[in-house]
Amino acid sequence: MTPPVKTGSLNPLPLKERMKVPRQHMPEQSPRLRATNFAEVNLGYSTEVARREAMRCLECAKPACTIDCPVGVKVKEFVQLVVAGDFLAAAAKIREDNVLPAITGRVCPQEDHCEGGCLMGKKVQSLGIGYLERFVADYEQQHLDINNILKARPTGKKVAIVGSGPSGLTAAGDLVRKGHQVHVFEALHEIGGVLVYGIPEFRLPKQIIREQVDYMRAMGVEFETHVVVGRTVTIDELIEEEHYDAIFIGTGAGRPQFMGIPGEHLNGVYSANEFLTRINLMHAYEFPRYDEPMLDLAGKSVAVIGGGNTALDAIRSALRLGAGKAYVLYRRSEAEMLARAEEVKHAKQEGIDFQVLTAPIEFLSDGNGWLTGARCQRMELGEPDTSGRRRPVPIAGSEFDLPLSVAVIAIGTSANPIVQSTTPGLQTNKRGYIDADQSTQRTARKGVFAGGDIVTGSATVILAMGAGRRAAKSIHEYLRTGAW
Ligand SMILES: Cc1cc2nc3c(=O)[nH]c(=O)nc-3n(C[C@H](O)[C@H](O)[C@H](O)COP(=O)(O)OP(=O)(O)OC[C@H]3O[C@@H](n4cnc5c(N)ncnc54)[C@H](O)[C@@H]3O)c2cc1C
Repeated sequence: MTPPVKTGSLNPLPLKERMKVPRQHMPEQSPRLRATNFAEVNLGYSTEVARREAMRCLECAKPACTIDCPVGVKVKEFVQLVVAGDFLAAAAKIREDNVLPAITGRVCPQEDHCEGGCLMGKKVQSLGIGYLERFVADYEQQHLDINNILKARPTGKKVAIVGSGPSGLTAAGDLVRKGHQVHVFEALHEIGGVLVYGIPEFRLPKQIIREQVDYMRAMGVEFETHVVVGRTVTIDELIEEEHYDAIFIGTGAGRPQFMGIPGEHLNGVYSANEFLTRINLMHAYEFPRYDEPMLDLAGKSVAVIGGGNTALDAIRSALRLGAGKAYVLYRRSEAEMLARAEEVKHAKQEGIDFQVLTAPIEFLSDGNGWLTGARCQRMELGEPDTSGRRRPVPIAGSEFDLPLSVAVIAIGTSANPIVQSTTPGLQTNKRGYIDADQSTQRTARKGVFAGGDIVTGSATVILAMGAGRRAAKSIHEYLRTGAW
């Protein structure tokens, strides 16, 4: 075996050889097959392939992968443990900073964070950090006995977490490790937020989420579903009657937005939120085994309006439900799309028809309240708008009609107002999101913290997790010192 490149490195591959090794391919279901089922698209690395990929790491002195990760995963260290074949130690290393590795390994936009910063990516393909994280997390799920997880010594302090999305789960995991009693309240009947009701099985199997939640249960986190905070119980009641010492609000941004164009009320027009919730959470794709109805999409023309992850999840789900034609209608160009690069690639392979620079201006009816199509208009790109992306400008006279049976609106979401409207003293911005300090996640109410999409508006899993981590750190500080 070749000696390690430098003292302390576990990697047998000489540094100058590492760039020559191509990024290891992630095996996946063939596009033709997967377009007909809800099983996961990516199939995961074997131990050999994972080690080969890990050996590509350049072990940078100042690893940008960690600096660019919102939760600060020690990538270089965990990757070296993969090289050494000590996969459980690698998992433990990731877990020091990330309580949901099997999830981030699957859905994090790595190209914007760890892999975007990877030095190797400047010359060849970046290290497959997401794929390695997924491999390590899956290995841990198969081999670790969660009954042996050590619990921290109790501090006697109680923290309530409102909402069980990635921000709430991260705050819960970090706080329980400090010995605080952590109770998560969730409005829905399943734990996980968007991870369970939004992201489909073929990208993030529900079983993976359940196993990550079981791990947190084993750490000592308590979960309670069917509790709508602000209705079932208020924040003030949690503090005054149930004696919680601190609260974290991570209620997300789950309220759908609509386009405000004629015909949006027609049967056959869904919000992406409803469409995906019916499929993912209510198992409409397993009807009649599950008693959840859904329009029969077999052979039908379906379009989604939007260019983010939600839009692609909706249209790829429609394809799997038998849609004969599946369109993405997006008003800007592909370069401005917010969806993860891998999802765009996968959707194209599956045969989704991307009609970019195209926007519906009206939904058309059969006269009996049912959708028959969309009147669309072509766009060109103008100057950048406030989002920094080039503004779509309609091309006069470019209108055309697209026959459709189902249209799914995926143009964004907004804040659910229940907690804000029932919690005196909690301040919100003009869009209804909770005002919270960017570094401490403190709100205007003493002892109440907030983070994730309910503060920033729709963002990403890892950004929500970063907020959960920052909140946990300052909640711990507050519980320790009492200082506000
Ligand atoms: C379809 C879809 C696909 C996506 N794909 C990706 C992706 O691939 N990669 C990525 O990084 N990001 C993706 N995102 C974005 C990402 O999922 C979100 O940014 C992230 O989940 C936000 O986390 P959160 O904890 O702030 O809130 P959420 O995940 O929204 O969770 C909030 C939770 O709070 C609960 N809740 C709300 N109000 C109350 C209340 N009053 N009482 C109790 N509970 C309450 C909700 O039921 C929910 O479970 C996607 C989003 C969607 C919709």
